[in-house]
Amino acid sequence: MNTTDLLSIANEFGNPVYVYDATKITSQYQRLTSAFNTIPNLRVNYAVKALSNISVLRLLRNLGSGLDTVSIQEVQLGLLAGFSPEQIIFTPNGVSLEEIEEATALGVQINIDNLSILEQFGSKYPQIPICIRINPHVMAGGNSNISVGHIDSKFGISIHQIPHILRIVENTKMQINGIHMHTGSDILDIDVFLYAAEILFETAKHFEGLEFLDFGSGFKVPYKEGDIQTNIEELGERLSSRFLAFCKEYGKDLALAFEPGKFLVSEAGFFLAKVNVVKQTTSTVFAGVDTGFNHLIRPMLYGATHQIENISNPNGKKRFYSVVGYICETDTFASNRQIAEISEGDILCFRNAGAYCFSMSSNYNSRLKPAEVLWHDGKAKLIRQAETFDDILRNQIQIF
Ligand SMILES: *Cc1c(COP(=O)(O)O)cnc(C)c1O
Repeated sequence: MNTTDLLSIANEFGNPVYVYDATKITSQYQRLTSAFNTIPNLRVNYAVKALSNISVLRLLRNLGSGLDTVSIQEVQLGLLAGFSPEQIIFTPNGVSLEEIEEATALGVQINIDNLSILEQFGSKYPQIPICIRINPHVMAGGNSNISVGHIDSKFGISIHQIPHILRIVENTKMQINGIHMHTGSDILDIDVFLYAAEILFETAKHFEGLEFLDFGSGFKVPYKEGDIQTNIEELGERLSSRFLAFCKEYGKDLALAFEPGKFLVSEAGFFLAKVNVVKQTTSTVFAGVDTGFNHLIRPMLYGATHQIENISNPNGKKRFYSVVGYICETDTFASNRQIAEISEGDILCFRNAGAYCFSMSSNYNSRLKPAEVLWHDGKAKLIRQAETFDDILRNQIQIF
């Protein structure tokens, strides 16, 4: 899809609007599976939280993907999208035993990440095989909010507590069928990933009857030209041979699982917004757009950089702009960014808007959530209507 396609989508569906390119999602899926094509049993479980539109879930199901879910609602969405319970893993953090029991009743694979729930679950349901999420204490990733493997992270059961896990397993006679880790977003260094993998292998040796090892995600995607990204092909080569060697040692062909979110959908997404006002101050030129961090919070939340292009004037002279949103507090998408000359009414395109953009959107400032469009087979298809004022009032109760 090109600039003309994007402009015509803004024209047809209004703005702001999220656009997802199905071709890119498909090629990323295939890139990952071909990097690991020597693994007889590879499971790619798409992390629903990145982008949970049901049409996107169906697209991924048609490609052969499974799902990684973190709430009972995501499990329900996945089942509704046509995934079988066996294709879904439930990897919550800090949820109640009741929610885990609900997911169990729906038949999905449960992944437990703390000793307290492990013991309670094992005592109540020793016959239901469980995956355990360990914390290998490997630092991976740039931003501390999205690095989840470090020593004081709330995620996973510390590898220093393996003796405790083994005691619970022995006492409850529960079955462990998988070992999982997810060291956090933005893994750059394959050596770090492989180091964490070794810890997973060491852990796995303590458990008989495993069926799979889950290496989580955290693949880094490029956010701008020249950005470093995880070299999936190199990771595929190096991890696959090590994994196959481990399976020999373990005496069984285990499945190898991943749960990528960003890798599959980030680059497929474009967020289109219109410039409401160009404001020249003494030091800065602001381009104010018809959206804000209520629709794309990553720059404000993580300091993430989203590339911004002026698709109405792609060949214009480059000038420096601060692109800001309409929310009534600091709401900055980009500071002093070189962008082709902007006029009021132009459409700006934010790249990498597939992952954690719509799914993190809110109604702050009583604004409406935008529409979502899937570009599929050369056609733009509406996959979520923009909200209307009724949606703002829905569920509110006027008692006076
Ligand atoms: C968020 C999350 C993912 C996906 O991470 P990405 O960086 O989007 O690939 C995978 N697994 C778990 C358990 C997660 O919480």
